[in-house]
Amino acid sequence: MPAVSVTLEVVAAEASTCTRCRLAEGRTNVVFGVGDPAAGVMFIGEGPGAEEDRQGLPFVGRSGKLLDQLIVEELGMTRAQVYIANVVKCRPPENRDPKPDEIDACRPYLTAQLDLIRPAVCVTLGRYAAQWLLNTTEGITKLRGRAYPFAHGVLIPTLHPAAALRGGAEPLAQMRADFVRAKLTLAQAASGTPLVTDVPGQGDLFS
Ligand code: URA
Repeated sequence: MPAVSVTLEVVAAEASTCTRCRLAEGRTNVVFGVGDPAAGVMFIGEGPGAEEDRQGLPFVGRSGKLLDQLIVEELGMTRAQVYIANVVKCRPPENRDPKPDEIDACRPYLTAQLDLIRPAVCVTLGRYAAQWLLNTTEGITKLRGRAYPFAHGVLIPTLHPAAALRGGAEPLAQMRADFVRAKLTLAQAASGTPLVTDVPGQGDLFS
């Protein structure tokens, strides 16, 4: 019998019936991720909100609209040309932060996404995703503005779009700067230039 080749579809199908943690009880849909399976850039948020849970797609609410806008305006790309996912694939009740055991239970899905897509650049959206993926308790204002070695390339932390929607011009300008950095890093990767990071060997749960 031929070996089943593991693709994003195979992993998504497995995730769609997942009961590895308590978040399965309250979800409407598993929000696995969406986009180009060969994307150079992957955006990683915290977890689905109400609208994402309803539609089964990441970042489709107000935050998602801003994310889409920044992808177009700063990366010169569309949502279909990047990949978008979350640390946890099911909506935490009342939009609370995911708990450590929920993240651990969900980790194999994100690891599989990273290994199959192999993005040169991962952009985390918000404090929570950056802290989890870099294995640090440092705040987002200290974390952002730098590139970290991560998975198959680099991680560029930025703010959550909800923070820019709340906070106005300054957080939005910071997000734009981080997206420009992601674009430059992607161009370096495409030209075969070794990727430069600001922080050597930061604790990376996915390396
Ligand atoms: N916020 C997130 O972190 N993820 C989503 O998918 C939507 C909002």
